[in-house]
Amino acid sequence: MPYSYDNQNIFAKILRGEIPNDTVMETDHTLAFRDIHPQAPVHVLVVPKGSYVCYDHFARDASDAEIVDFNRVIARVVEQEGLQADGYRTISNAGEAGVQEVPHLHVHILGGRPLGRMLS
Ligand code: 5GP
Repeated sequence: MPYSYDNQNIFAKILRGEIPNDTVMETDHTLAFRDIHPQAPVHVLVVPKGSYVCYDHFARDASDAEIVDFNRVIARVVEQEGLQADGYRTISNAGEAGVQEVPHLHVHILGGRPLGRMLS
């Protein structure tokens, strides 16, 4: 199924510099910034700069360089935010069933408090 990317989504506007953000890390391919409504003391969103709707779109169509960079940024943010010792959670919501609000791939990094069980 083809992926349809809406370039007016809020993260596309952030990536174009049309809306401010609290950047924690930026590379050639990836931007990481703080969530505007944090659900934990640390709540960072990691987004690829390319136009990808969701994780499977990215994993299918992105270059190896983009995929490696994206994952390395996640690891570096975890380290920079001091989350390794106590643990953290990564989440990427996709589509309607996944209740994805912003249709540009993002991985949430949450930490800084006990997060409770998600799956049982
Ligand atoms: P989703 O439900 O799509 O997985 O998560 C979207 C996330 O984007 C939410 O946690 C929401 O708080 C965050 N968000 C929505 N609009 C903005 C914004 O303008 N700036 C920032 N930094 N985060 C946003």
